[in-house]
Amino acid sequence: MAKDYYQILGISKDASVDDIKKAYRKLAMQHHPDQGGDAEKFKEINEAYQVLGDAQKRQQYDQFGSAGPGGGFGGGGFEGFSNMGGFSDLGDIFESFFGGGFSQQSQPQTGPVRGEDEEAVLTVDFMTAVFGGEEQVEIVLLDQCATCKGDGAAPGAKIVTCSTCSGTGQVRRNQRSIFGNVTTASVCHECHGKGKIPEKYCPDCAGHGRVKKSTKLKVKIPAGIDTGTTLKLQGKGHAGLRGGPHGDLYVRMNVRASRKFERHGYDIHTSLDIQIPQAVLGDEVEIETVHGVKKLVIPAGIESGKKIRLARSGVPKIGSSEVGDHIVTVRVLIPKKLSRKEQELFMELASEAKITLTPSKKKGLFS
Ligand SMILES: [Zn+2]
Ligand SMILES: [Zn+2]
Repeated sequence: MAKDYYQILGISKDASVDDIKKAYRKLAMQHHPDQGGDAEKFKEINEAYQVLGDAQKRQQYDQFGSAGPGGGFGGGGFEGFSNMGGFSDLGDIFESFFGGGFSQQSQPQTGPVRGEDEEAVLTVDFMTAVFGGEEQVEIVLLDQCATCKGDGAAPGAKIVTCSTCSGTGQVRRNQRSIFGNVTTASVCHECHGKGKIPEKYCPDCAGHGRVKKSTKLKVKIPAGIDTGTTLKLQGKGHAGLRGGPHGDLYVRMNVRASRKFERHGYDIHTSLDIQIPQAVLGDEVEIETVHGVKKLVIPAGIESGKKIRLARSGVPKIGSSEVGDHIVTVRVLIPKKLSRKEQELFMELASEAKITLTPSKKKGLFS
């Protein structure tokens, strides 16, 4: 059976490009050999991403299916191999045809490599999300090793010829394919293609050139963010290798709920209890909004459940001068207990409205 790249990345077949990237980033970090992950698993994740992360290769892979070469090899003029024996592994076929281009380890990586991206979650208060602010996020990042300045050599260590590749920087392996034996050259894992290694690796980073470091970062939060908003902090991810640039940091926001306000997008919702005379005659009251206390005009004759909208009294929209609204849902309270005087007044109201009442015998209404 061929490898199911979707399963490897833990995503569904209709995953978006973004979903694929996110899943890859997360898994790659989790299984990175530098972080003690399994190298084979890491290779598999990379392989899956190099196919699914490339629109054309993904389409080809989707067409080909994960069950094996049954439907012909779409594109590239390789149709008609469905009856060829000996190829049960799609990965092998890809590797044979494309010279191992699907495996990251086979790509020469002697030069600088950009650091990986990282993700963090930052929980902020409701009002900070509305008006923005500055918060601190604490995160463990791979930083350049201070002892060896990132080159992986122990202080004063001699640089010697790599014994794994005899100084060529490459290791070769033979593979059977439909074209006969194919020799694939890949970059030496020991020296990363340089052909030379330090006699002794740096004791602090074991030669990796990077060490884990707990880092506190200030995050500027723009007004209007909400749970799920992701801020990109360029160059704040993991340090690069061999002088490569830092990766990026993606900070996903998690907003605490408010006891006073309910937020729907950029609108704020609250409810307001009013008395019958206010509903009938109208009134002007003060209500609390995220912008402070504001006047609310209750129009005469309002019914329970009606909403009153205070324009531009909600949440500022991210990167815009627009502001959402504050929406008040009015609830007219019906008194459950009446004083003698109130009872008389209601009776009078009824008679004025020419209503002949048969008062309820239930306790609490007309006692
Ligand atoms: Zn070091
Ligand atoms: Zn080597």
